[in-house]
Amino acid sequence: KTIYPFGDIPILANNIILFIALIKYRFMDFESEIKRKENRLHLLANYDLTTQLPNRSLFEDRLDQALALAENYNTGVAVFLLDIDRFKRINETFGHRAGDLLLSGVARRLTSCQREGATLSRFEGDMFAIMMPNIHRVENAAVMAETVLSVISDPFIINGKEIFITSSIGISFFPWDQKNANPLLKCADIALQLAQQEGNNKYKFFTSDMHKKVDANLALESQLRHALKKNEFVVHYQPQFDLQTGKLVGAEALLRWHSLGGNIPPTEFIPIAEETGIILPLGDWVLKTVCEQIKAWQKMGFRSPVVAVNVSGKQLQRPNLVAHFTGIIEECGINPAFLCLELTESSLVTDIENTIQTFKKFREMGIQISIDDFGTGYSSLSYLMRFPISTLKIDKSFIKNITLDSNNSAISSAVISMAHSLRLKVVAEGVETEEQVDHLRDKGCDAAQGFYYSPAIPADQFLEILREAEASFPA
Ligand code: C2E
Ligand code: CA
Ligand code: CA
Repeated sequence: KTIYPFGDIPILANNIILFIALIKYRFMDFESEIKRKENRLHLLANYDLTTQLPNRSLFEDRLDQALALAENYNTGVAVFLLDIDRFKRINETFGHRAGDLLLSGVARRLTSCQREGATLSRFEGDMFAIMMPNIHRVENAAVMAETVLSVISDPFIINGKEIFITSSIGISFFPWDQKNANPLLKCADIALQLAQQEGNNKYKFFTSDMHKKVDANLALESQLRHALKKNEFVVHYQPQFDLQTGKLVGAEALLRWHSLGGNIPPTEFIPIAEETGIILPLGDWVLKTVCEQIKAWQKMGFRSPVVAVNVSGKQLQRPNLVAHFTGIIEECGINPAFLCLELTESSLVTDIENTIQTFKKFREMGIQISIDDFGTGYSSLSYLMRFPISTLKIDKSFIKNITLDSNNSAISSAVISMAHSLRLKVVAEGVETEEQVDHLRDKGCDAAQGFYYSPAIPADQFLEILREAEASFPA
């Protein structure tokens, strides 16, 4: 006898019940499928899949809500825009997959230092946004910004490789800077641009005069683009002397821009040249000019000093930098041993392996590598020793008080003796007084440059220094 699930009612009734149950089940399935699809659409529309963070549109919604609440409760809201410095280069060097892993890593670290009630978002590309409600004091935001910069600068391990990155942050506040979401974000963006222009690993609060500054920078950028064509740049040379023998041993090439509007100092235009990429053709021009100058001095019968050329981190990141520089040097036909390339510590932190290879190739050609502004960054000597470098330049901020401040004196003495034990040469920059010269000589520093001897001067004036140097050599 057949047994029916719904008991002893007629077969037809049993079948009808089964049929209805089946339809209902199918329909439920259909319903949950729709729900799943809806959920997925919601996720796609509001979240970034790589980092799992709210995307820009969700962030802007939440910012609107937070601003309305803050208005009612009379509190402040801080908006942070954070950009990873030189992210493009990381993508190019390590591949997009590694870039994505890095972005997820950044998202995790940012999440770990978030305050309650804050919203974190992957805003676009390598830009993140943070909204902090209930801000009563600007200092709270400053503390947060410092924490964020520090957690991002700890090394990331991606595919077994150590990657060092830094970030820049722009911050604006409701209600002081702007009252609505979009203008508030614009203010944070302006502050971010200025933070980036001042160098990496910085945060800046928006101020009302920033609009003017951004406009001025834009004007400078367009002037800069024309300046190369119009031959407005000149290279000046600052002599370096051996502290023990007093003889001329080198020179540093320092760029000068004589624009129609007056002389613009490199501290103002170099950051903009770096930001806009103009530093690449400009850096090529400096190297070429220096090579031609060395050649010209030699043709006149002088011994050329080793000339140090400042190289920006942006140039170092250029693929084929070695081949490119080699081309410029060979075209001039000078011996590369007359060149030294100067880089700051901070430009060595991205893509360490590549940088080591690049330096190796330069050293094999006979070019010296010097670390500029040593002591102002965070790196230790042992970190720097991973790079095949030849010279350390003690930053002028240490030299300034070397005879007055026992700390500065102790630091420079330690740097000098450690550098010597590692077979590095030490050059002091910004030497202005005889006391400083004596002090540095006593400590065993190798060479020095600074206003005490001479500021950077045009090449024709440098001839005078070459003549004196020649006179002090036996013929
Ligand atoms: P830097 O490489 O640290 O250059 C040393 C700066 O110290 C120069 O400023 C120089 O004029 C100044 N200086 C020299 N002697 C003294 C002194 O006795 N006391 C004091 N207080 N300062 C002294 P300058 O020429 O204004 O250059 C500023 C920065 O611009 C340079 O700092 C360098 O980072 C950058 N720069 C200059 N030329 C180039 C270039 O061709 N390429 C790149 N990438 N950067 C450059
Ligand atoms: Ca320098
Ligand atoms: Ca320096």
